[in-house]
Amino acid sequence: MRWKKKNFINDLSYKKLPCNEGVLPRVYVLPKIHKSNCPFRLIVASIDSPLYALATFIHDVISKNVPKSVYNINNSFQLVKRLNGTRFGIEHICFHKDILPREKRKNVVYKISCKSCDASYVGQTKRKLKTRLAEHRNHINWNSNNQSVITEHRIEFDHDFDWENVAILDEKRPLNKWLISECLHILMQQNSLNLRSDTEGVHHNYIQLIKDIK
Ligand SMILES: [Zn+2]
Repeated sequence: MRWKKKNFINDLSYKKLPCNEGVLPRVYVLPKIHKSNCPFRLIVASIDSPLYALATFIHDVISKNVPKSVYNINNSFQLVKRLNGTRFGIEHICFHKDILPREKRKNVVYKISCKSCDASYVGQTKRKLKTRLAEHRNHINWNSNNQSVITEHRIEFDHDFDWENVAILDEKRPLNKWLISECLHILMQQNSLNLRSDTEGVHHNYIQLIKDIK
């Protein structure tokens, strides 16, 4: 009423804002099927609740006045549109210039491919790639309790990996971009040996999306 008197809102908004027949917000859950033990995500449905109209009104006011980031994406369709035509795969994955010899490089996302089938593994290391690769390669000789998907693949199928031609997919990113880069590259593989837990931070909708555009 006071907003109306002070002309903050027009007649239409004044009529829309009060709520006469509201219902209590309802809660439902979405199971997070990609996580172990399948925890639930709670969703509160507030449509037609007493404060819904007011909240919508305030949301509109705020969202119109906060500048949008250039990275803002409203939905997955917009993401596909934005990525469409971007030469993401070629520029970022295939044609990296070799500045340092690859084994001396640090801070890389790398891909190790099987010589005998299309299986591959994507990992990242902040240490020298050579050091990390030696660990992968020699793991088979260690009497270790730590599991290695690479060792498992070598033993199970009697395959070996192409250690001389490990692909460097990405390097020297700001820290916050690291995990995203690694996750994306893990998901882009045709036959990934990576564990599901390696991409746990990525919402399953995006995983499907990446599979679709691959
Ligand atoms: Zn193989």
